[in-house]
Order: sequence, then C-alpha cells, then structure tokens
Amino acid sequence: NRKKIISVDDLVSGILSGNITALSRAITLIESTNPSHTKKTNEIITKCLPYSNTSIRIGITGVPGVGKSTFIEAFGIHLTSLQKKVAVLAVDPSSSLSQGSILGDKTRMVDLVKNENAFIRPSPSGNSLGGVARKTRETIILCEAAGFDTIIIETVGVGQSETAVHSMVDFFLLLKLAGAGDELQGIKRGIIEMADAIVINKADGDNLKAAKMAKVEFNRALHLYPAKSSEWTPKVTLCSALEREGIPEVWNMIEDYTKTTSENQYFETNRNNQNKFWLLQTIEDRLKSDFYNASKIKLALPQQIKLVEVGKTTPFAAAEYLLSL
Ligand code: GDP
Repeated sequence: NRKKIISVDDLVSGILSGNITALSRAITLIESTNPSHTKKTNEIITKCLPYSNTSIRIGITGVPGVGKSTFIEAFGIHLTSLQKKVAVLAVDPSSSLSQGSILGDKTRMVDLVKNENAFIRPSPSGNSLGGVARKTRETIILCEAAGFDTIIIETVGVGQSETAVHSMVDFFLLLKLAGAGDELQGIKRGIIEMADAIVINKADGDNLKAAKMAKVEFNRALHLYPAKSSEWTPKVTLCSALEREGIPEVWNMIEDYTKTTSENQYFETNRNNQNKFWLLQTIEDRLKSDFYNASKIKLALPQQIKLVEVGKTTPFAAAEYLLSL
C-alpha cells in the first residue's frame, strides 16, 4: 500500500501555505461518508478556523440555463485580474441523483479552471440538503484558510437549496433572464426577498431591449419588499456573461455592499447569526444521523413500520418505542 497517511498537521500546514493538493485532500475528507474521518476533519477545521473569515462570500442562484456557469467564469476572471483569489463551490443536492445540473463543474468553466488564482470544486454528493450544505460550509473555511479571499457558492434556482446558501454567504445574487413579458411570474417570492442584487443576464443582441424593460419591472417589484436589516437596498443590473459586459459593475456593487454593511456592523452580526444557525443545524443533523445509523434502530424501524401498516400499533407509540431504544 503506497498510499501515505497524511497527518492532520501536515494537511493544515499545507492548506495554510496555499497548497492546492493539501486543500483538495482535506475537502475529500470532509466529503467522505466514512465516520472515522469525522474526527480528523473536525480537527482540520478547528485548526483552520482562526485563519478564515477574511473573505467575501457570494451566493449565486438562478434557474438552469440562465447562465450561471458563464457568469461565474466571466466574474471569476475579472476578480483574478484584480489580484483576487477565487474559490467556486456549489450546493446541489440534486446532482447526485439526477446528474442533471452538476454545478461548479470544471468542464463548464474552461478559462477559469486554467487560472492559478482560481479553485473550482463541484458540489459534494449526498442525498440530504443538510449534509451537502454542511460540507460546503466546512469547505468555505478551508478555502479561506488557504488564502482564497472571494468565495462563490453556486446553487440552482429550484427547491430549498437557496435558503441553505443564503445562510452561508454575505451577499446573495439572483441571476435572471428577461422573459416574454412574464418577468415577475414564476419567481418564488422568498428568493427575491433574499436577493441583494438581481442581475439580468443575456442583456445582449436582440435581448437588450427586453432586458432593459425587465430591469424597470424588477426595480418596481423590489420596492414592494420591506427594507432589509442590512440597510442595503437591493440593486438591479444588466449583464452579458457571454460578452463579458456588466461584470465589473457587479463587483463594484458588492464592494459598496461590503462598505455599507461593515460600517453599520451588519456584516459581522450576520456572520455571527449564521454561525449560531449552523451550530444548531449541525446538532440536528448529527442527532438524526446518529439515530438512524444506530444498529438497534436499523433493526427495529422496519419492524415498527410494518406494525403501523397493519394497524398493530400507532405511529406515536412506535415513535416513542424507537426513541426509547
Ligand atoms: P447555467 O445552467 O445557469 O449554468 O447556464 P450556462 O452558463 O450553462 O448557460 C446556458 C446557455 O446560455 C449557454 O449556451 C450559454 O452560452 C448561454 N449564455 C450564458 N450567458 C449568456 C449571455 O450573457 N448572453 C447570451 N446570449 N447567451 C448566454
């Protein structure tokens, strides 16, 4: 067996010196479902934690086809031209099941992947959103410790994953398209409410006029929402990810946001609240998985389900019994 066992300290010092191999290895440990790796990853994360937190974390969402990969590539290249170090991560609990929309996919960001100041990691697999999100959150910490100062978290505009991503980022960006007059339909109210910016992509060619009209409509729609506790007024901008236009404007806006929310201390408060949320979330996930993985439960649960099915016990009595085990 030529595989060398690498110690926690070696991995951590590798990460802190910006070694991408060490970073990738540590992330693989985070993504491992082997319970014996948990202790090791927890040690790594604890040791990296003091070196994280000096970044901006940006969430990007939008329906498949809106241009997320194209946008992130253009945006990432702009950021690296400003001497930033960019990590692109993803939360996509569906990808492992459907293989439909694999986010943060290297093959879709051909230019960025070649850039030595960019690090792209596809979504971890897993069938629970909680698990996938936790892994991504832990990965953020390692990337920051490795010197990445701009973290982009991509997610797909369907389902609950936006809420999870919103709870781990400083700035949340919604990519939209100008539609055929139905711009405001089909948008989940909750997502608009979370957005710090709506960026209308594909504002090019024949689409430009519709995009400009959509901008007016989105601006009007945003006024219907109550003011945010960040005191930041969400902005609507146009861009063409394909032609790489309107991209620097998005970054300038995020810098404005950072300035505003640092001055009024929302930035820090928000991160503290997110940490509290993740603490509780981690406990919940852990209690659940410990319960379902316990051998007694694995044995008794199917039996109790059978008994409930045939009316020999009630769901509540069965639950009480299982919990008592
Ligand atoms: P994703 O599924 O949201 O990641 O979307 P992609 O980035 O894969 O883009 C979907 C399609 O839209 C691709 O064919 C892109 O070339 C195209 N596309 C992306 N951005 C633009 C843009 O700004 N203008 C135009 N015209 N096409 C774009």
